[in-house]
Amino acid sequence: MDPTRLIRQNILTLEPYSTARDDFQGDNVSAWLDANESPWQNGVNRYPDPHQRELKKRVSDIFGPSADSVFMGGAGSDEAIDLTFRIFCNPGVDNAIAITPSYGVYKVAAQINDVVLREVILNPDFSLPVERLLAETDDNTKLIWICSPNNPTGNSFPPEQILEICHKFNGMVVVDEAYADFSSQPSLLSHIGRQPNLIVLRTFSKAWGMAGMRCGMAFADPRIITYYDRVKYPYNMSGVIQKMLLERTASPLPPHLDLMLSEITRMKEELEKCPQIIKVFPTDANFILVKTVDADKLYDHLLGGGVIVRNRSRMPLCEGCLRITVGTPEENSLTLSLIKNFRQ
Ligand SMILES: *Cc1c(COP(=O)(O)O)cnc(C)c1O
Repeated sequence: MDPTRLIRQNILTLEPYSTARDDFQGDNVSAWLDANESPWQNGVNRYPDPHQRELKKRVSDIFGPSADSVFMGGAGSDEAIDLTFRIFCNPGVDNAIAITPSYGVYKVAAQINDVVLREVILNPDFSLPVERLLAETDDNTKLIWICSPNNPTGNSFPPEQILEICHKFNGMVVVDEAYADFSSQPSLLSHIGRQPNLIVLRTFSKAWGMAGMRCGMAFADPRIITYYDRVKYPYNMSGVIQKMLLERTASPLPPHLDLMLSEITRMKEELEKCPQIIKVFPTDANFILVKTVDADKLYDHLLGGGVIVRNRSRMPLCEGCLRITVGTPEENSLTLSLIKNFRQ
């Protein structure tokens, strides 16, 4: 399968903006007078590398797929979500499918791009409704969005099921792995380069602790990634951020990962002992979805104690549910003691 046949015609024929640094690269230059920059050195007076070459090499070393399979988003993986709609979906014509409950940005990005998003409710046990997802597709369905581990339910889906969807669907399957760094389940990243209609999103915002820097990635077949790079703003990631990211990824593992994982386990075990919590859902992420006796009241109670969690009780299949991010040991202990003090 040639995945480029799924790309919008106007994107296929787009002549991308050519930056000054595309026109000339080389050494032995005495004066860069091609980009209307200021010559006075202050650390940021020059435009950054629009292709983020060094960074893509680093990302390739850390995550596995080759550097030409990497798109870097300077507004997080949210940027990759928007670009995916723009590259594949003709506004007002094409549609996409997503699971629900899941991450809210897919729907907003679909609406901004005038694409109908068909939401398919998960099975009651939060497993993937493979047949119902495929049944929703038609000739104008370009994308299926699967978040794994899923936000807010916390579970991840078996790679075999996602690959089955890739094999049976004539469009792109986008797997948002924002939380995969926390998961012991296998990532779909090892299939990049082999599965032409697979896109995997990752981010530096969660386990890596750099949400404030807004760095996310899309991994896909190089024939697809080329179009992300053509459609993006030429300098979509600042030089300051490229430099910081290179410094902070010198070690290939997220900092504090062991402590985060042990705190997730501790929170799960402690929450299970709380009579105020009816159910603690299994998690492969750094948050825990819990079903409570009264989500709104417990939310307010935690708020009163200075702890902010996410009230997800109005999402499908999530009645009575709060989503609690696992924090530092001190923050987690405070949260647990507040929950234990809660009386309806
Ligand atoms: C937090 C989150 C993201 C956002 O990542 P950024 O790189 O910060 O934009 C993407 N997907 C899911 C499911 C998330 O929960």
